Amino acid sequence: MLVQTYKDMLGAKSVIRDLAGAAVERGKEIGYENVFDYSLGNPSVPVPDEFNRSIIRMIGEMDSQSLHGYSPNPGIPEVRDIVAANLKRRFGIPYTREHIFMTSAAASALAHAFRLVTEPGDEIITFAPFFPEYRPYVNLTGAVLKVVKPDTETFQINFDEFEKMISDKTMAILINSPNNPSGIVYSEETVKRLSDVLRAAQKEYSHPIYIISDEPYREIVFDGKEAPCISKYYDNTIMCYSYSKSLSIPGERIGYMAVNPAAEGADLMVSMAVQISRGIGHNCPSSIIQRAVAENIDLTSDLSIYETNMNLIYDKLVELGFTVVRPGGTFYIFPKALEDDAIAFSKKALKYDLVLVPGDSFGAPGFFRMAYCIDTEKVKRSLPVLERFVKEEYGK
Ligand code: PLP
Repeated sequence: MLVQTYKDMLGAKSVIRDLAGAAVERGKEIGYENVFDYSLGNPSVPVPDEFNRSIIRMIGEMDSQSLHGYSPNPGIPEVRDIVAANLKRRFGIPYTREHIFMTSAAASALAHAFRLVTEPGDEIITFAPFFPEYRPYVNLTGAVLKVVKPDTETFQINFDEFEKMISDKTMAILINSPNNPSGIVYSEETVKRLSDVLRAAQKEYSHPIYIISDEPYREIVFDGKEAPCISKYYDNTIMCYSYSKSLSIPGERIGYMAVNPAAEGADLMVSMAVQISRGIGHNCPSSIIQRAVAENIDLTSDLSIYETNMNLIYDKLVELGFTVVRPGGTFYIFPKALEDDAIAFSKKALKYDLVLVPGDSFGAPGFFRMAYCIDTEKVKRSLPVLERFVKEEYGK
C-alpha cells in the first residue's frame, strides 16, 4: 500500500517550484529573457574558473577510486581536516576533523542534525519568515516544527513570542541567518539575547537545547560586514553549511555539519551522524566534489553581483513606496505587498511577467519574496516593468 503521508504531501507542492515552472512555460511563449523570474534561489553567478580547473586537473592526475569511489562515511579525512582548519582560523573555535561531517549540502546536514537531537514528538522552534522546506524536513523526522511569528518591523527575532513557546519539549532551535527569505542578518545583539534565553531555558528544563544553525548564505553579506558566528556565542550549536550558494554549485550537493567542540555530546555526534546516514541513505557525498571544495576552501563565486542587484531593487522599491527592510545579505528581499493578500498581488504581477513569490509559505502572509540571483542587466530591465505594474494596478 502506498504511504498516506507522502500522498497527502502531493496536494501541497512547493509554491516556489510551481511559479518557477510557470515562468519557464511563459518563457517558451515570449522568450525567457522577457520573463522577470524572481522565483528560485538558484545562484546566477558562474562557478569560479579555479574550481572547474581543479576538477579537470584532478581527473587528469588522480586515480579513479579516489575521485569516483565511495568516500568514508563521515567524509574524506583530509577534506574534514581542511574544513576544520578553515573554521578554526576564521572563527577561532578549535574544530578538528572529529567535529566535521561531510554532507550532500545543507539539506542533508539538517536531516542529520534534526535526528541527532530530537526523538519523534520533540519540538524544534524556528522563526518566521522561514525556508518552506523546513516543514517537510522536520515533519518527516517525527519531530514537531513550531513557528514563532515574525517581527515584521525588523525580521530579527520576536523574543516575546519565542519565550512563550519554549517548553520542556523544546530540543532544538532552528535558525537561518543570513535569512531566506528576508535577507536579514541577525545582529550580534539578537544572537547574544538568543543565547542568554536558551542558557536559562536549558537550566529550567535540565536538558540541552541545541541551536541548529542553517548557514548556506554565510558568505553572502553586504556592506563589507560579516554575519555573527553563532557557535562563538552558544556552545550547543550545530552548524549546517552548504557550498550551494557561495560557490554556485547547488547541483553538486556538497556541504557539512560542524559540531561545536564545546557542545554537549560533541565527541559522539559525528559517529552518530554516520549511523543516521545509514538509515536515511544520505551517505558518502561525491568524492570528487569533496576534494574540489577542499582544494578551493577560501574561494567563492563573485558574490558582489548580488549586492549590486539588491541595491538596484531596494532603491526602486523604496522609490515606489514599498515597506521593505534592507537586506544585510543573501540574494533575497522580502517587501510588504501592496494589498493584504500577497497571493492576489503576485497573481497580478504575473500579468506583467514579473514572477514574485507570496510570503504565505514562508510564514509571513502579506509579504512577497524576490530572489534576485539573476543577471543585473535583467534586473535593470525589470524595474520599469515593476513601476508600470505598481502604477496600473495600485495607482501609485
Ligand atoms: N536552507 C536554506 C535557508 C535554503 O535557502 C536552502 C536552499 O535554498 C537550503 C537550506 C538547502 O540548500 P542546499 O541543500 O542546496 O544546501
